[in-house]
Amino acid sequence: MTPDGVTIAHPDHLFIDGSWVKPGGGGVIEIVSPNTEDVVGRVAEGSAEDMDRAVAAARQAFDHGPWPRTHPRERGRMVAQLAERLAARSAELENAWIEQIGGLPGMAKGVTASGNRAFADIARLGESYPWVEEVKGETVAAAYIVREPVGVVAAIAPWNSPYMIMANKVAYSLVAGCTIVMKPSPETPLEAYIIAEEAEKVGFPPGVLNLVTAGREVADRLIRNPAIDKVSFTGSTAVGKHIAQVCGERIARYSLELGGKSAAIVRDDYSTQDAAQLLGTTITRLSGQICAMLTRAIVPAHRHDELAEAIAKVMEGVKIGHSRDEGVELGPLAMQRQLERVEGYIAAGRNCADLVTGGKRPAHLNKGFFMEPTLFANVDNTSTIAQEEIFGPVLCLIPAKDEEDAIRIANESNFGLHGSVLTHDADAAFRIARQMRTGMIGQNGMRTQPGMPFGGFKQSGIGREGGREGLAPYVETKSILLDGTPSDAVLAQ
Ligand code: NAD
Repeated sequence: MTPDGVTIAHPDHLFIDGSWVKPGGGGVIEIVSPNTEDVVGRVAEGSAEDMDRAVAAARQAFDHGPWPRTHPRERGRMVAQLAERLAARSAELENAWIEQIGGLPGMAKGVTASGNRAFADIARLGESYPWVEEVKGETVAAAYIVREPVGVVAAIAPWNSPYMIMANKVAYSLVAGCTIVMKPSPETPLEAYIIAEEAEKVGFPPGVLNLVTAGREVADRLIRNPAIDKVSFTGSTAVGKHIAQVCGERIARYSLELGGKSAAIVRDDYSTQDAAQLLGTTITRLSGQICAMLTRAIVPAHRHDELAEAIAKVMEGVKIGHSRDEGVELGPLAMQRQLERVEGYIAAGRNCADLVTGGKRPAHLNKGFFMEPTLFANVDNTSTIAQEEIFGPVLCLIPAKDEEDAIRIANESNFGLHGSVLTHDADAAFRIARQMRTGMIGQNGMRTQPGMPFGGFKQSGIGREGGREGLAPYVETKSILLDGTPSDAVLAQ
């Protein structure tokens, strides 16, 4: 069973070694609509044995199959075909996202387009990446740096942006010549099914791309399997730390895209109305469930109260409802446990800061996992609500004495994923950006750009995704020193 507008040929199967197979334990994962709380889909749940089989297939395909030895140009060509096929299923990918996590249709278009773009852009690296690079031989006649696939990749994604995140992991792995086991979040398995279906049609060799849908226990088995060379993980910092420990035991490679608690520094030249509009609406995007979300607004102390009032006014005007309803600006949280998590943080915030607006489930909605946009003011930056990732529509307003104090507060965090400076002065924005310990910063908003490296400082992660830099974690670098120069034919292989 799949939601309306999404057609999956084998939802009760897993994709292992080039075939659709029934899960060993006969397990089923239910997909619950956060708008209605109804079950809208069911897919297979993989067992430990299924996971082991998928890893063995990927290992076999890497060690003995043609894929790692296929020319990068050809690998890129096949990934480009996959990109085209997936783009043709954009409407389904959008519906899958809306039904599984309650995203708004307008944003569904954007996140799906980003996933499609990632596939297409990364495919082109097959052609342009320096796979074999000649360097000047100082002690030898000829010297080369070659870049080879890192091996068998475990690709583990969260539920908030399942297509775009998996697109990056799959596209980089394939172009690099790796083989891969996809493990999507149990709440959002449909996008990975669509990727597997289209990969099958493109005709990648058996075992190159596998799909096992599963929860924590079976996922844990995946990362512990010694046949996995690299874990590419996007998710919470708690699970990221665990993965780093497990991989550390056997020096397996890992890249981690983790949580955030990003700061927006408001400068004095930025008007109260504009700041309120920007901050009050940004926090409602995907109900605040975006890793890069600007959740701490650091504002000049003398304007704190007027900003609190203006942001509250914007938040109170936000239309909350079923994500497919006309004019809705704030849909539900993605799941029951997410709603409970946010409610827990709001309860904690009431004890240490001023609740200006929100903090309740909207009175007019008696079904679905909805939460009002919520503003806490006079927040102490060392408090739980300012330090921990809430992943809901909850904004903390933090007063700062001056610019230096604002930067200090912004950096007083275990996270460092994103950030913003609200100002009309590009010089000031750049100067402040250089002082913020974070992986990406935009002037006047939560900005991102395709192809630019994305990732975290500190506990927001290790490694970068996006553009050419994003391919580096999927290759091993080898230096070859020769007494003679090999033929062009050999070098071109
Ligand atoms: P999560 O860490 O609970 O789960 C992420 C994935 O890891 C899921 O597929 C889950 O099944 C799997 N998993 C859980 N335990 C595991 C284990 N022991 N071994 C292997 N896999 C395991 O995170 P979530 O709730 O799905 O997603 C929300 C989090 O993701 C937030 O913290 C958010 O900031 C983060 N996120 C980060 C980025 C980024 O690019 N930095 C992007 C999106 C989301």
